[in-house]
Amino acid sequence: MAEDRGVPESRIGKKEEIESMFTKKTVRDVDVNKKRVLVRVDFNVPIRNGEVEDDTRIRSALPTIEYLRENGAKVILVTHLGRPKGEIVEEFRLDPVADYINEVIGLPLKKLDTSVGDEVDEAVEAMEFGDVLLLENIRFYPGESTNDSELARKLASLADIYVNDAFGTSHRAHASVVGVTEFLPSVAGFLLESEIDHLENLMKSPRHPFFAVLGGNKVSDKIGVIEKLLDNVDGILTGGGMCFTFLKAKGLSVGDSLVEEEQLGMARVILKKAQDKGVSFYLPSDVIIAKEISAEASSKVVTVDNIPDGWMGLDIGPQTIDIYRPALARASTIFWNGPMGVFEIETFSEGTLQVAKAIAEQTKKGALSIVGGGDSDAALKRFGLEDNISFVSTGGGASMKVLEGVDLPGVMALEDKG
Ligand code: ADP
Ligand code: MG
Repeated sequence: MAEDRGVPESRIGKKEEIESMFTKKTVRDVDVNKKRVLVRVDFNVPIRNGEVEDDTRIRSALPTIEYLRENGAKVILVTHLGRPKGEIVEEFRLDPVADYINEVIGLPLKKLDTSVGDEVDEAVEAMEFGDVLLLENIRFYPGESTNDSELARKLASLADIYVNDAFGTSHRAHASVVGVTEFLPSVAGFLLESEIDHLENLMKSPRHPFFAVLGGNKVSDKIGVIEKLLDNVDGILTGGGMCFTFLKAKGLSVGDSLVEEEQLGMARVILKKAQDKGVSFYLPSDVIIAKEISAEASSKVVTVDNIPDGWMGLDIGPQTIDIYRPALARASTIFWNGPMGVFEIETFSEGTLQVAKAIAEQTKKGALSIVGGGDSDAALKRFGLEDNISFVSTGGGASMKVLEGVDLPGVMALEDKG
């Protein structure tokens, strides 16, 4: 079914693999026939020269949209794009998104230049059941980000039912995410449900062995998630810029590698906690170093106790890859966030490529793999491996919040299953 719509299976989740723990009503739990349904989607896609560059977030919302159309609803879509800060900014108009959906996706859709008011009322009135309407960028209205109840009420007046399918925005208490739920029966879309199911499953009932692969550049962003993961995983494999804070915390000198000095104490706490809980905490044993982050820089492989001053670690080394691959080959569940190196540059991309390949291979053998993080997703796409992963989360900040165990306001506001 997924393939018929051109939606890669990985993007809508493999529901049979995990048990649903989702406690909120979904579109399946309400009668949408002959109803006007307002759907908050997250079409905050990258746009370059007026063209949609990556359509993942659009395609991810298609199952909900198609379901509502097939079941006889008028489908009214609302989203934000970029950060226009409460005023009309031409470059953030949704016309490129509407053109893309019409022309490339092949879903006929009418787009308006406003989000509430007379023009919208008339357009909704004129819709046939099964039609799709896209409202203008809701962040053109200052009331969106302040969760203004007047804006929420106007949006709600367009519809009979509200559906939240904007997982990537659900950590924000905005008018089209939270405020609107005060005025309408409010349920989840399929993407939202699938995201929460996959991420909560990692924290509540993962199949073991469960390995997390963590890289990327900011330890401080990930501390909360690492701490939570320690309660659930069997091992953590580290790489990327963040591993140097841990290496330094262990007393190694890391040259000019990325280090967050103020996180050194926290890094020691985490290392100790991992030890106490019996979680294997893997740090690279060798790294690729260079004097600058550029494609022209000359690079070499050194063991981590041999990083000279003036050099920085920019990828995990071959010895480390030889340790990480067999570790991943034992995993039944894998969570990956953050590239192993500066994968954007070929010289420093091998570690990320090999780890991504190992995760893809293990997925083929039946492991459940979940990837979070915009850059990790970009790496998968660059390597052409995104369809070999069980589930790629569409929400960076929101997915980290779920893994930290924080309830998302946009999910909390929906109706509980009866
Ligand atoms: P994600 O978006 O998947 O959560 P992050 O945003 O945390 O990942 O980190 C991605 C960035 O980290 C990439 O742009 C990559 O170039 C950078 N990075 C990876 N390894 C290193 C390193 N050793 N030194 C500096 N930056 C790194
Ligand atoms: Mg990132």
